[in-house]
Amino acid sequence: MGQRSIIEPFRIKSVEPIRMTTREERERFLEHAGYNPFLLRADDVLIDLLTDSGTAAMSAEQWASIMRGDESYAGARSFYRLRGVVEEIFGFRYVLPTHQGRAAERILFSTMCKPGDVVPNNTHFDTTRANIEFLGARAVDLPIPQGRRPSEIHPFKGNMDVDALERLIVEVGAEHVPLVMLTVTNNSGGGQPVSMANIRDVRAICGRHRIPLYIDACRFAENCWFIREREDGYGSKTPREIARELFSLADGCTMSAKKDGLVNIGGFLASNDETLVRQESRLLILTEGFPTYGGLAGRDLEAMATGFEEVLQEDYLAYRIASTAYLGRRLTEIGVPIVQPPGGHAIYVDAAAMLSHLPARLFPGQALVAQLYLEGGIRAVEIGTVMFGSTDTETGEERAAEMELVRLAIPRRVYTQSHIDYVCEVVGDVFAQRDRIAGLRMVWQAPPLRHFTARFESVCAPSSPNDLSND
Ligand SMILES: *Cc1c(COP(=O)(O)O)cnc(C)c1O
Repeated sequence: MGQRSIIEPFRIKSVEPIRMTTREERERFLEHAGYNPFLLRADDVLIDLLTDSGTAAMSAEQWASIMRGDESYAGARSFYRLRGVVEEIFGFRYVLPTHQGRAAERILFSTMCKPGDVVPNNTHFDTTRANIEFLGARAVDLPIPQGRRPSEIHPFKGNMDVDALERLIVEVGAEHVPLVMLTVTNNSGGGQPVSMANIRDVRAICGRHRIPLYIDACRFAENCWFIREREDGYGSKTPREIARELFSLADGCTMSAKKDGLVNIGGFLASNDETLVRQESRLLILTEGFPTYGGLAGRDLEAMATGFEEVLQEDYLAYRIASTAYLGRRLTEIGVPIVQPPGGHAIYVDAAAMLSHLPARLFPGQALVAQLYLEGGIRAVEIGTVMFGSTDTETGEERAAEMELVRLAIPRRVYTQSHIDYVCEVVGDVFAQRDRIAGLRMVWQAPPLRHFTARFESVCAPSSPNDLSND
């Protein structure tokens, strides 16, 4: 008997219809949205792979938790339940709930960073970088060299380059490095995991220089599953045991529960440093709310606590990682260049390789995103020059990003295998006509985080008769 299929470890109790549109409609919607998927109406999207953030389907148990939420302004039972779960799984004594991850980031960096400081990370997520730069500090990405090469296979491509970290600290001086961060899994670097050995090495360097280590924990459970699957000595440990070990190496963490919290809103900031937490609480009260609710309803705290328990279940993680790998394997079979090996929450198509006729200034990633929507009503997101590049205000030239990726993020527990099969068919059709995909010109932008609102025109559009070529 061969190995049986890994199936969705749930059945469906409540369904939400999705609607197919015509190609003509999609052309109109896309033009209206300035070729920016963030500006489309969700109702006009068939399969929404824009993000895995806040898009999870909650379980019956989480909905039951919602009904148990305690809405007391101060000292709510739901807060103490969340604090208990966080202490049990993450091992940190103090937890400040926040409405999402970036609020935790803003509070952490506002408390720890000053202008001129440097914050190293394997790869900063966009809001993390923006919050550091907003304070006049510098966000430095230090992935291992393999992490920058899309087609190279490595079991822990999310690892930090520890030699580069040591060099950077010596170069700028430890007094200018208020904290080191590690993002697990490494979202912007392809959803790639970080090994326990790497976290240990980073911890050792931080320890020698007396610099606190913080984990950007958004996808901690997926990272723990990869450690169990790929790292020697972890095969018989539970995801929960691995999580405890991982966080025991850190001084604190920021969390967006919209990822591995399996909720639609929520996050937290946690640490063991009482003095720091007191300062952070003051900022929390200023913009988020009293420290026992932090901008969330009591029911949100309950749903989050239940989500953290469910996300570490082995049948869930086995299904989650296998379904992402399935999409990656099928696209690879068609010949689509993707970041290898598949990460935890998304497949990243290498748009620079696929649309090699388009230079970075014509935004190949964004052009591919537009085509996926036109072809099949699929919404994806560019992670390339639109997101991480910038326009020189004097020359008007684009500073290109290091990679031009398109992310197909997979919402948790939302789509079935036939939805994913449909995605593969659409990507296959786009791949077959890749040579004919036109580039885009950015006609409006508002940095920072310009990708949320930027507007584009096709360089083939009738409004630009002098620029029909892509070069
Ligand atoms: C989503 C995310 C954040 C920010 O969290 P939000 O809840 O969107 O504010 C930070 N870091 C990483 C790695 C993320 O994926």
